[in-house]
Amino acid sequence: MMPPQLAQAKRPKRSEPRPLVETLPTINVNDLPIPRDYNTYVADNISFRYPHINRMKINRFVVSFFHSDRVQTFRFKWIKTNYGNPRPAFICECGRPVIKLYFKRLNIACRRCTNAIYASQVCSRDKRPCLQAQRMHMFLKLKTGMWKSTRQRLKARITTAVSQDLKSRRLAHHSIQIPSSNYCTRGAMHWR
Ligand SMILES: [Zn+2]
Repeated sequence: MMPPQLAQAKRPKRSEPRPLVETLPTINVNDLPIPRDYNTYVADNISFRYPHINRMKINRFVVSFFHSDRVQTFRFKWIKTNYGNPRPAFICECGRPVIKLYFKRLNIACRRCTNAIYASQVCSRDKRPCLQAQRMHMFLKLKTGMWKSTRQRLKARITTAVSQDLKSRRLAHHSIQIPSSNYCTRGAMHWR
């Protein structure tokens, strides 16, 4: 039960709703060609992959993105793993190590700095399984080369009818339904 003063509380009207993480252009650190040697490389053709960025300068320690008449530089943090190679993360301007950076209003920053929220946070509790089911359906459609048994196991996780409408204009964006998880299966996520 919600206390009445909270139920009747008037929130200040935002000038615009908080952006959804899924709809913002993303740079995943794992998609960047981080050199393992000690040279600095310039990628002039980066805008094929990231249309908002004109040029990228990258070495083992730091990456610079040239965009919107400015340059933003992010250091890498190499996170130790128990076994195997250390894994890279960006260090956002706020100091947080993050795997993904987002592009919003001519600025590249982490999820918290862009003030973005996940689509699932916009869903009510009863609509969330519907969003999960939509994503799972999309995953089964996009993913190739899976064992039949794996496919069936994942299919069994869909418990809600997908036909149920999410009834939200914000969630109508096509990228909301694109699965961001690989659901513990092997192989690349080609749609990413
Ligand atoms: Zn940040």
